[in-house]
Amino acid sequence: MARKIAAGNWKMNGTGAALAELKAIAEATRDSAAEVLICPPATLVHAAATTMSGANVAIGGQDCHAVTSGAHTGDVSAEMLKDAGASAVIVGHSERRTDHGETDITVRAKTEAAQNTGLLAVVCIGETLDEREAGDTLKVVGTQLAGSLPNSITDENTVVAYEPVWAIGTGKVPTLEQIGEVHDFLRAELVARFGADIGNAIPLLYGGSVKPSNAAEIFAVSNVDGALVGGASLKAADFGPIVAALSQA
Ligand code: PEP
Repeated sequence: MARKIAAGNWKMNGTGAALAELKAIAEATRDSAAEVLICPPATLVHAAATTMSGANVAIGGQDCHAVTSGAHTGDVSAEMLKDAGASAVIVGHSERRTDHGETDITVRAKTEAAQNTGLLAVVCIGETLDEREAGDTLKVVGTQLAGSLPNSITDENTVVAYEPVWAIGTGKVPTLEQIGEVHDFLRAELVARFGADIGNAIPLLYGGSVKPSNAAEIFAVSNVDGALVGGASLKAADFGPIVAALSQA
């Protein structure tokens, strides 16, 4: 059985004033049986980690470079995130794959960097609408999964997030059957590659327009161990009920 995780991706949202909302999220999720992770913009990681010291909410980055340091203007390394207080990092988000041309090879290198630094890697995969409509969903996510994960991962240092690109920030959500089909497939792929002990214990998160109104039914789908939440993670009033639904699932 995989552990439950509710992760929030704040994307490019939030200045120092957002730390008050982070405190409200910590308060709203204080009794959660699930792990809670918030990934604010890099500028807020240190302040967020300091603010959450002793609280139930872990802080993560939204991306890291594959190398520790060097001539990479504007980038942040896994080591820097860790130094700032992060315990996790999202890698391979579809917005990074699209906006910055990241490939599975890049994502795998970033996952390795996270692993070598002691950060939990939240590795994102997911098909576009064209790929789904062409009937290629399982082929696409299978290829991304195989290419984005190094051989050395474990359930302790890696989480996989299935995020259909067409469901991110759109309000469109796959049917529960479609989510279940992909998650069952990913679980089987993880078990085939990493063995039953690790493969069954790697948390599989669903992401894409998760809201308080649909969270409970999504968390009831087989092999859904939690969620990666964008828009609805910005407010405690939305994220709190999502975490509560996962705690009760
Ligand atoms: C995301 O960006 O990872 C995401 C799932 O966004 P949203 O919940 O807003 O669809």
